[in-house]
Amino acid sequence: MEGYREQELEEKELRLDEIELIAEAARRLDIRAFKLTGGEPTLRRDLARIVSILKSRGKAYVSITTNGSLIHHHMPGLADAGVDHVNVSLHSLSASKFKAITGSNMLERVLSNLKLLHDYGIPVKINFVILRGLNENDITGVIDLAAKMGASVQFIELHPVGKAARRFNEHYLPRWRVLEKLEGRVVEIKYRIGLHNRPVLILDNGVKVELVGPVGNFIFCAGCTRIRVTYDFKLLPCLNWRGKPVEVRPRLQGLKGFEEKVEAVISAIKEANMLRAPYVLYPLGSKLVPPRRRWRTARIGLPKRGGSLHFTGPRSDQLLRKMLAEWGDYTALK
Ligand code: SF4
Repeated sequence: MEGYREQELEEKELRLDEIELIAEAARRLDIRAFKLTGGEPTLRRDLARIVSILKSRGKAYVSITTNGSLIHHHMPGLADAGVDHVNVSLHSLSASKFKAITGSNMLERVLSNLKLLHDYGIPVKINFVILRGLNENDITGVIDLAAKMGASVQFIELHPVGKAARRFNEHYLPRWRVLEKLEGRVVEIKYRIGLHNRPVLILDNGVKVELVGPVGNFIFCAGCTRIRVTYDFKLLPCLNWRGKPVEVRPRLQGLKGFEEKVEAVISAIKEANMLRAPYVLYPLGSKLVPPRRRWRTARIGLPKRGGSLHFTGPRSDQLLRKMLAEWGDYTALK
């Protein structure tokens, strides 16, 4: 769900009664997880209330993605509301690089808020967008920090959307470069089938690392199960959706009772779901792996149903090498 972005848009923002409708519609459709993102969700002062509304119906799993600079204003409310985990974006461990990437001097604040969340017992995932020429040398440091805090880490490819699109060519670092940096440290591999088929690597120091590698990655899109709810109550089937969004508010006009409104939201969600299609498709007619990497070609069989694949010991090393091919540089296929 998107947080609010600009002051003049405030009156369009999702109201709490609308969030209640979403929570109930989602419960009836067996949607079990919500992620509050942005913009920046901590700009909403009622964030803890939103979490508790979403959790109040059907005990959904609720997480937040934030830049970490304001989250202290929402404590202990978020802990009391039972937020399940918080993703905090940490762009670099060096103050100067952090400033270069974000334009702010907030590194110390973000680090202290990571500790604050940890002290409240809220599980933390560090989101680290890997940027060539800016922060690629912080990868090991971030893993060490996560180990100290009992946090996990998501290494995320730069995605060519919004502002990042302008600097994509300059700073894009393919996901397999991260995998290569982890060689020799992986003791276990799992896959999150219901979430982009993401590989989850358990490292020798116990840190759990997830790879978020969407660029040109048909395996990632094949495992996408998300519907996006915008700040002004529209539904999008994909982050890159360029068609018309499914507008929910016009469907609610004139409806009085909670029940009929929930039914209208359910039908809007179903309609958005019918628009769903993987953004990146399997490249028919192309070779799976570019010639320069062909020697590494191998397929990892993904399970057909939910759950996770789970490998340990020497097999996980073998599979990491396969994954280097499987999650390879598909952009070179064009
Ligand atoms: S289908 Fe769209 S939202 Fe889903 S992973 Fe692919 S690009 Fe992202």
